[in-house]
Amino acid sequence: MIHIQNYDFKDKKVLVRVDYNVPLNEKFEIDDTTRIDASLKTINKILKDGGAVILLSHLGRPNGREYKYSLEHIHNYLQKKVDVKVFFAEDCLGEEAQRLVDALPPRKILLLENLRFHEEEMKGDVEFAKKLASYGNVYVNDAFSAAHREHASTSVIARFFPNNKMFGFLMQNEIDNLNKVMLHPKHPFTAILGGSKISTKIDIINNLLNKVDNIVLGGGMNYTVHKAMGGDIGASLYEENMLPVAREIINKAKEYNVNLYTSIDTVTATKFANDAVRRVYYTPTIPLDMEGMDIGPESCVKYRDVILKSATILWNGPLGVFEFDNFSNGTFMVADAVVKATEKGAFSLVGGGDTISSINKFKLADKFNYVSTAGGAMLEFCEGRQLPGIRSILED
Ligand code: AMP
Repeated sequence: MIHIQNYDFKDKKVLVRVDYNVPLNEKFEIDDTTRIDASLKTINKILKDGGAVILLSHLGRPNGREYKYSLEHIHNYLQKKVDVKVFFAEDCLGEEAQRLVDALPPRKILLLENLRFHEEEMKGDVEFAKKLASYGNVYVNDAFSAAHREHASTSVIARFFPNNKMFGFLMQNEIDNLNKVMLHPKHPFTAILGGSKISTKIDIINNLLNKVDNIVLGGGMNYTVHKAMGGDIGASLYEENMLPVAREIINKAKEYNVNLYTSIDTVTATKFANDAVRRVYYTPTIPLDMEGMDIGPESCVKYRDVILKSATILWNGPLGVFEFDNFSNGTFMVADAVVKATEKGAFSLVGGGDTISSINKFKLADKFNYVSTAGGAMLEFCEGRQLPGIRSILED
């Protein structure tokens, strides 16, 4: 296995799979540049060594060629972030792309247009991957957030570089930090899981049960567990078909000696809106016309106590509807407790799109040990799955 820090890219044409799938506003300006900024370490190392960089990425889920998903919108920003010329190929295939690849000198960058403008990318088409592979002599995968996809540029392409493939710095860092939590956690280990639906978090809960000491639940998924225990959850979100699974989890937690914390009390609302009338109830006694929107004050105190006593903390998913200021307190209190625990020496890893939005909203994003840039890929990693983007680099 090659490590990027030990590799000399001098005179190589290096294919770097990055994830520039960033949010754009209606003027096609970038709302959050984190993923682009995070790719610069790998790019700069290659340039410094004297290699040429060919960037491969997707943006959104286009249906054929769609201007709103063009990587042209990323081109300008990237050009401002590096000291060298960034060329742009308006199609990742064709004569123009080939000409730009052939003419690309060392210490320059070529950004290829959105790979998903060709359906072969998502289909994992071997011929398409082979064509992309022909552009370079080294392959670097730095797109951890796309590593759960078995696509042409994220996985299939690696087979054309049996001796010249590696992870980029960002991807290596993601894997190292996730392994630290999943393979070598210090105890007590607490997983905080929130978000809307329990169905999307079942696999991660199951995989964590033999690793953690505490599971702290919040968000909509918490009500399915309360309902499974016979509680009255009023008009709160829950998944009827998940009730048996929730019961299984409650039993397994006992079996594995894991403390499963559900909300003690809940901030409820008359409707799903920021300006709704708010009332706090003990979670299993919510009246029929009230909907659970956030964990309540007693839950915040209990969760804080558990978090402050933890040595490792994994957090994915908001504890309430944090997008509404009036229902963001629970998520904020938990974020603040994780920050305090981190300051006391705990290792904290935070991930997931909504969780990252919440810590950005609270201006706490730089106060955790590691914030993953990935959503789905991080979840699948924590579910214990082998990600195609990782496997394809590790296998011979
Ligand atoms: P997920 O995509 O499953 O991680 O869920 C994230 C979303 O869950 C966020 O948009 C939150 O607003 C939402 N959420 C959190 N708590 C609740 C709740 N009690 N009821 C409905 N939605 C919630």
